[in-house]
Amino acid sequence: MEARPVIIWSDRYTEHTTGDHPESPRRIAALRSAFEANGIFERSSVLEPSPASAEQVLRAHDEHVVQLVERAAERGGGWLDPDTYVSSASYEIALLAAGGAINAVDAVMAGAPVAFAFSRPPGHHAETRRAMGFCLFNNIAVAALHARAVHGLERIAIVDWDVHHGNGTEEIFWEDPGVLFVSTHQYPFYPGTGALDERGGGAGLGYTFNIPLPAGADDDMYLAVFEDLIAPALRDYQPQLMLVSAGYDAHRDDPLANMQLTTAGFGRLAVIMRDLAGELCPGKLVFVLEGGYNLIALGASAVEVCNVFLDDAQQLRDPRSERNSGR
Ligand code: ZN
Repeated sequence: MEARPVIIWSDRYTEHTTGDHPESPRRIAALRSAFEANGIFERSSVLEPSPASAEQVLRAHDEHVVQLVERAAERGGGWLDPDTYVSSASYEIALLAAGGAINAVDAVMAGAPVAFAFSRPPGHHAETRRAMGFCLFNNIAVAALHARAVHGLERIAIVDWDVHHGNGTEEIFWEDPGVLFVSTHQYPFYPGTGALDERGGGAGLGYTFNIPLPAGADDDMYLAVFEDLIAPALRDYQPQLMLVSAGYDAHRDDPLANMQLTTAGFGRLAVIMRDLAGELCPGKLVFVLEGGYNLIALGASAVEVCNVFLDDAQQLRDPRSERNSGR
């Protein structure tokens, strides 16, 4: 059993090149610098991701999408839509991104206290039949469906705090009561979905919970939303595994969006998720990277979130720590 937090990391995520695009390989370089400067890797178990198989990706997507990305990469790359680029390595790296999320699930199911998949490209806009919004395959959806298929889980919660609505994750699980999808996002905003009255359909009615927020939402508003709306929803659902679509583009310095979350604010959200996971499904908590486009804010916020768990691990290893009894 792995006692330390697990980080799924690969520098190969930089091989999905996108030219002059905010979702660039520099995001991975920025995370690496921030993690090195803050001793994140030393305090974690760092694992290389393994690529997802086509079969694993096809649990969330139509064959059409997989073939579209594969063929675009084979042709040397191109734009799938005005936002979404495929380079020659992108098919392989998108499989590695989905695979990293699967590896993170496997790590917590094997006993790791928490796992972080720093996957790139991001995934939460990718729908069953459509890659879009910088996203090729829906990494977190592939991971959730893996958790069901291989680990037999019946109730999985996905909390999406990326500033954009996770339309792809919503669509994939729209009629699925086995996945509770909860999203906070700037609204109205890209991609246009995520209204309060989108609540799922069929057997999945009531298992999609959108919390659209006005531009300018700050730490206090986010904290209130997580404590007063998301925590009760998760307690009602009693998930066996919690996955977080952890984008960092609700940061106040992000160039693409207009929220006011601070670096410390992300840490406070992570504490809430840590405590809820501790209460509902101990040790079954996975963070999957989504957006975040100010490189400094991205690195600092990801460090802040990791430290919520690494400081815990530190305290567990050091019984003399005065903070051992506190939270
Ligand atoms: Zn985003």
